[in-house]
Amino acid sequence: MPTLIGIPFDANSSYMRGAAGAPAKIRESMHCDASNMWSEVGVDVGAPGAFADRGDLRLRDEIAFAAIEQAIHGSLAEGEQPVSLGGDHSITYPILRTLGKCYPDLTIVHFDAHPDLYDEFAGNRLSHACPFARIMEEGLAKKLVQVGIRTMNGHQRAQAKTFGVEVVEMESLPAYDRLELQGPVYISFDVDVLDPAFAPGVSHREPGGMSVREAIAHLHAIQGRIVGADLVEYNPVQDVSGATATVAGKILKEILGKMIAG
Ligand code: MN
Ligand code: MN
Repeated sequence: MPTLIGIPFDANSSYMRGAAGAPAKIRESMHCDASNMWSEVGVDVGAPGAFADRGDLRLRDEIAFAAIEQAIHGSLAEGEQPVSLGGDHSITYPILRTLGKCYPDLTIVHFDAHPDLYDEFAGNRLSHACPFARIMEEGLAKKLVQVGIRTMNGHQRAQAKTFGVEVVEMESLPAYDRLELQGPVYISFDVDVLDPAFAPGVSHREPGGMSVREAIAHLHAIQGRIVGADLVEYNPVQDVSGATATVAGKILKEILGKMIAG
């Protein structure tokens, strides 16, 4: 069963803190009576037993990654498909340290404005700018497909080549055919893949991004069994009248809907 795990952690953010406040706001938004709990794929995410919620992890910065690995281990041991609510994007590395070892033929579909492939950023190899470098170095995924990228630079392009990353840049969307995947799939959804016009509540606003509709269409196009997901980088401090919380709640509902529909 898909199971929510809140990870209120933003100590590896390079520019601005605040994403630690996201999990509660995303839950609140998904359950808000302004909408219903049906996913557009035609399943009732709000039906009893459709998904579970382990609440938020209680983290201390120094040992946060170990605690995240342990929590994901516990979730997988129960036969769950963990859906983590960040937090900054650095949390995807400890999540995959556990989940990637359970699924040796895993494909990660990574929605983001940024490739997050830096070898290090501002002296921090665990920065939210680095998780996919760590994941690929350790062989925690067989394949990484990045969608919506629009901040590629020379260093990260070289990293993408080294690690064999399939980068689908924003300018070449739509790219539904690139999401016809075999085997288990993990979705890592950075809210800043969306255009800041739709989702201003992020630490790194990058214009020229996806509409909410484009993001949902690409989520729905994913083939392969979804064994886990994360939704990261929503920053309530930067939000405008809760608009981005509403978007994050909708994206979460669509990810859960896909997972429940199977
Ligand atoms: Mn990211
Ligand atoms: Mn990003």
